[in-house]
Amino acid sequence: MKNGKSKLVLVAGGAGFLGSHLCDALLSEGAHVVALDNLLTGRKQNLRHLEREPRFEFVDGDIIKTLPARIRSKRMKFDQIFNLACAASPPHYQADPEHTLLTSVVGTHNLLTLAEDIGARFFLASTSEIYGDPEVHPQRESYWGHVNPTGPRACYDEGKRAAETLTFDFKRSGRADVRIARIFNTYGPRMRADDGRVVSNVICQALAGDDITIYGDGSQTRSFCYVSDLIEGFLKLMAYEGPFTGAVNLGNPVELTVADLARRVLAMTGSASRIVTRPLPVDDPRRRRPDITLAKQLLNWSPRTSLEVGLKETVAWFSKEQETAQQNRAP
Ligand code: NAD
Ligand code: UDP
Repeated sequence: MKNGKSKLVLVAGGAGFLGSHLCDALLSEGAHVVALDNLLTGRKQNLRHLEREPRFEFVDGDIIKTLPARIRSKRMKFDQIFNLACAASPPHYQADPEHTLLTSVVGTHNLLTLAEDIGARFFLASTSEIYGDPEVHPQRESYWGHVNPTGPRACYDEGKRAAETLTFDFKRSGRADVRIARIFNTYGPRMRADDGRVVSNVICQALAGDDITIYGDGSQTRSFCYVSDLIEGFLKLMAYEGPFTGAVNLGNPVELTVADLARRVLAMTGSASRIVTRPLPVDDPRRRRPDITLAKQLLNWSPRTSLEVGLKETVAWFSKEQETAQQNRAP
């Protein structure tokens, strides 16, 4: 609250999976929210339920370019700017690697400059990918990472690393008040069926009775966080007022293999799909698990949703989406 008025918040990437949930959470806290998105991987339908919400506005625009006049207008004195804009799934961010890298570098610079101009607090959605294929396990914030700078994932990993650098340079020189979340694999309703990430792929394949594609032998691990837990962490980190100034891991430390995830989804859906293997993508991290000691200490945050409950919610959501799509196709 500023002068007793509700906060004005900009969510870049607000039409995406995480961004749309963040818009909902901010609105339910009483904020006025503007979502800025170029709809590259985001979808208007993620925000359809907000069409009549007087405290919400959608602005179409690419953060790489000069920010839209509406965003730069003098009346838009944002208290907070969240930067979530960036394609996040490997097939999508690798489709136009140059745009992905520039989104993180030029786009983050544009938003940091806006934050500096109007005195807004800036939040960067960084990623566990900045740790690359980690040699330290679990990953804590003090680990500098193991990233291939020239591989196919580099446009994303190095882009986010550079975005963190820029964000800290603005902070060090007193130009902006900043927060950085290093997000580990997150899943839930509003992921795209064609997103390409493992949770959405496996669920959609199981529901459709298609082959479940496991890349490599499926022994690689990930730790999956349910979306509502993550968004709660975002809000706590943005509101944090203590002395700590570094990046903070946000994720669920429960680690499992990709093959185990597939088996759980098969059991949950009762699907007769077969598991098939496909080549492991280049530079695919072998294992990943967040150390969230810092988030627990600073923010009193830890995830509350078990994988079982989170997967059930997500399966139910995709199942409804598939039904609606079938009804719409019916003559
Ligand atoms: P998403 O693809 O659903 O959302 C990204 C949004 O950014 C989309 O709406 C897309 O249209 C928009 N966008 C992309 N480039 C843009 C540009 N140049 N200008 C304006 N808008 C642009 O992905 P998500 O899972 O919601 O991820 C959101 C953020 O969180 C991303 O920055 C991602 O790197 C980060 N993150 C997500 C995860 C995860 O597991 N979901 C993990 C780590 C980090
Ligand atoms: N993966 C898989 N089958 C799929 C999609 C992904 O086995 O259909 C694997 C992928 O190779 C990786 C893990 O699942 O080892 C997580 O992939 P995702 O794209 O979800 O996230 P990221 O690799 O960015 O952590």
